[in-house]
Amino acid sequence: MNVVIYARYSSDRQTEQSIEGQLKECYEYARRNGYAVVGEYIDRAISGTTDHRPEFLRMIADGDKKLFQAVLVYQLDRFARNRYDSATYKAKLKKNGIRVLSARENISDDASGVLMEAVLEGMAEYYSVELSQKIRRGMDINAEKCLSTGGNLALGFCVDSEKHIQIDWDTAPVVQKIFEMYASGQSMADIIRYLNANHIKTSYGNEFNKNSINRILRNKRYIGIYTYRGTETPDGLPRIISDDLFYEVQDMMDKKKKAPARAKAFENYILSTKLFCGYCQAAMTGISGTSKTGTKYHYYQCVTNRRDKSCHKKTVSKAYIEDLVIKETRKLLTKENIDRIAKEVVRLCEQEKDTDNLKRLKKLLKENERATENLFKALESGQIVDVIAERISQKKQERNELEQQILVETSSHPTPTVNEVRFFLNQFRKGDVNDLKYRQALVDTFVNKIYLYDDKMTVLYNTQDSHSDVTIDDLSSSRVVLVEAGGVEPPSENV
Ligand SMILES: [Zn+2]
Repeated sequence: MNVVIYARYSSDRQTEQSIEGQLKECYEYARRNGYAVVGEYIDRAISGTTDHRPEFLRMIADGDKKLFQAVLVYQLDRFARNRYDSATYKAKLKKNGIRVLSARENISDDASGVLMEAVLEGMAEYYSVELSQKIRRGMDINAEKCLSTGGNLALGFCVDSEKHIQIDWDTAPVVQKIFEMYASGQSMADIIRYLNANHIKTSYGNEFNKNSINRILRNKRYIGIYTYRGTETPDGLPRIISDDLFYEVQDMMDKKKKAPARAKAFENYILSTKLFCGYCQAAMTGISGTSKTGTKYHYYQCVTNRRDKSCHKKTVSKAYIEDLVIKETRKLLTKENIDRIAKEVVRLCEQEKDTDNLKRLKKLLKENERATENLFKALESGQIVDVIAERISQKKQERNELEQQILVETSSHPTPTVNEVRFFLNQFRKGDVNDLKYRQALVDTFVNKIYLYDDKMTVLYNTQDSHSDVTIDDLSSSRVVLVEAGGVEPPSENV
């Protein structure tokens, strides 16, 4: 498995581990678990109050190239500024089959925090909610930017004499019709046929084709989002399509799009990064091999065992152990448990709302109010009016900016309601145990770690104080002799 290391150093934290120290632990962890380090991303001496992390963003972007399957950090708090960011970026990486691993687990991670993050991450993925976009939202709310900048407008819009973008009532119904046809399941060809039969043209005056329909169905301007140089301004335009219809169509289109080539081999082993050898604590990773009869077998093997046989853990059949973990995990999902977990997650979300940055902004706002008050007092005592008035106006502007930033900070952390979380978790009760995606989501959300012995396993869950010990009485399925194992030595039996 290929991994990259992300390290970050905040100059304002006294107990901070140095970059070199972080790297050392990460390399050690990678070596122990048989991972190949293929890259380093390092953000040095960055103050905790800013979020300027160029290397971090480069790492996220590089994820698209699918050259690595995991990001290794010294400690999970190195990965992101807060759990919301963490959940968002993790969901983003996961789309490329990439996980985040911590070299120093169980030291700073409290179980319920991990669960909350897992749930937020799952929800971010499940609802395709781009939390990071919400952060950007409002950042630059500037009404002036929502004016037409010239060039071609999307179908359904026109410009008034003051360059304001308005709904064009002649063509907006066409846009609505296109969305509705697509949502009702009609094909691109159906839509094109309909439009051409009615002599409706694109905003460039051409006949419609697949590309132009695609562009319309993907255009966020129809839900009122004005985009300019990568900045999105919600409600910057009059809306033509409802959010419900728009996002329904996005989901349908995403599903039709061919799934990207993923790091398949890694991803299909749903316990990767969670399954550990009970005897030597090293990771157990997936291997496959072909038997004499030509049947392909999949296993998890202790990496120490694979490396030098100094650990005697037997290899275990992938299907067997995964089924067992799925079965055990589903036992957690009682109505009472889901209710309890949902409440706990929402409570933690509320608690985490008061981030350092928000506290700092609120403090600045208080100072601003005090300063303004003093200026008014000075005014009353008869000091030079012009100068004071100028400074009051400055303070007022500063105050507006602070309030804006506080708004952004608060809205970037949308707290889900108990009902929303409960709804999300309830999906897991109904899921199809044979669906790979479901199995993966179940493990990702609830399972923290599994220690596997030859005769039992201990599953640690992301819910507080929750674990189960399972006796394993049948490992016979792992005793198939391999004749060839894809470049890897056949697993030893060690009976
Ligand atoms: Zn071992």
